[in-house]
Amino acid sequence: MATTTDLYGELIERMKKTVLLGSCSSVLGWDEQTYLPPGGGEHRANQLALLAGMTHERATHPRVGELLSELESRSDLGADGSDEQVVIREARRSYNRATKLPQKLVEELSHTTTLAQQAWVGARKAKSFPQFEPWLAKVLKLKREEASAIGYGNGVPYDALLDDYEPGATAESIAAAFRPLREELVKLVAAIVDSDRHPQHEILTRRYPIDAQREFATQAAKAIGFSFEDGRLDVAAHPFCSGFGPGDCRLTTRYDEQHFPGAFFGVLHEAGHGIYEQGLNREAYGTGLGETTSLGIHESQSRMWENLVGRSRPFWQHFFPQAKAAFTEALSSVTVDDFYAAINDVRPSFIRVEADECTYNLHIMLRFEIEQAMLAGDLQTPDVPGVWNETFEKFFGLTPPHDSFGCLQDIHWSAGLFGYFPTYALGNMYAAQFFETADQTLGGLSAQFARGEFAPLKQWLNEHIHQQGKRFRAQELVQRVTGRPLSHEPLLRHLHARFDPLYGVK
Ligand code: ZN
Repeated sequence: MATTTDLYGELIERMKKTVLLGSCSSVLGWDEQTYLPPGGGEHRANQLALLAGMTHERATHPRVGELLSELESRSDLGADGSDEQVVIREARRSYNRATKLPQKLVEELSHTTTLAQQAWVGARKAKSFPQFEPWLAKVLKLKREEASAIGYGNGVPYDALLDDYEPGATAESIAAAFRPLREELVKLVAAIVDSDRHPQHEILTRRYPIDAQREFATQAAKAIGFSFEDGRLDVAAHPFCSGFGPGDCRLTTRYDEQHFPGAFFGVLHEAGHGIYEQGLNREAYGTGLGETTSLGIHESQSRMWENLVGRSRPFWQHFFPQAKAAFTEALSSVTVDDFYAAINDVRPSFIRVEADECTYNLHIMLRFEIEQAMLAGDLQTPDVPGVWNETFEKFFGLTPPHDSFGCLQDIHWSAGLFGYFPTYALGNMYAAQFFETADQTLGGLSAQFARGEFAPLKQWLNEHIHQQGKRFRAQELVQRVTGRPLSHEPLLRHLHARFDPLYGVK
């Protein structure tokens, strides 16, 4: 009979190769978004489909199931919470999710969402929801089938989909965290709108030469701890971060000569994702211990560097003299206070991806409510625009002029990404809670940032979050790192501390 060590070794070997194969798709996917000539699109789609099929075949191979069952029955595998137990638990989770979905459904989903995304592009351009509605209904039907195939214990299909992005989270737990946050945010945003202070937003739309933007953003990403020995920054239409594996993490951004914050904070954001990827345990590559824990935690890392650090007064105390030197024409007569106010301009607007730190979470809560209602069958697809606009008016005091500024603005639903949105707002909440603990533990981060010292925070994140891999679910990680369950309070404290003085809110 094979020893437990042999079986475990065989499983790890198989998993590593599967992850390695998957990472080849990531390279091709990154290239598709950055350098691929338009003529290569179809060939690339064929390459990616081939690799996806091979990866799925490996991930669902019956031998993986045999190894898992055998190992789960062995008493000499390691105690609860040991590395081996964590690796097996996560391998089982992936295996079950991969094998529970019938091949036919996977193919139908892939095919339908490809077409739905094309329909969405056309509908958004035409500002016509009715063009997209039949596709939304089709995707929704398939996502319900997916939820049934995966299974959910509590009568809430949404939870089965959410679990793919934020393992262990439920719609109920997220709603409970969002509710008190929403009440306070609506009040804070209303107070800011009523304020007679208006930042000089125009400062940020002067001329910022692109070469200087690239250089300045690269220096900032380096300063906060993104390693360019183990990564790159390139240009793509839709910014993203892709961690290929140990020693190779790719960031992308897009530049606009007339808009400073887009590329700069985009780079800080993606570098935050990248620092997480680069901070993973290399020896554990291919297993759950070497992987990021959830989308919400991933987003907490990007938003922490982008917002809590990158939009803070001390950060600019350090960087503003360099910014003035890099952008002499735009900033020669600008003070650090005016600049700081401009990058923290708050104003209700229709588009989520352009929203400020204060209104952003309200955009997410709106989507969270609507997608839950759709999946539960409480909201029929033709009624989506009406409910969207009504809720938007309630949260922001504005009504979208057309659906492209409303329910047609995001790609997510056409791509079948139901349950994805809440991870953005969770990321903001996790970020603020982690940051508060780091600040207390490390003895005043502000003074460090003002001196250009970011390594203590980065190392703290490396140790407490990145190196843990998937050892803990997000909820447990937050409890362990901060000593408390997830709460809306740290984020509110942060927002009040930043925006009350800027806008004279009492
Ligand atoms: Zn992100």
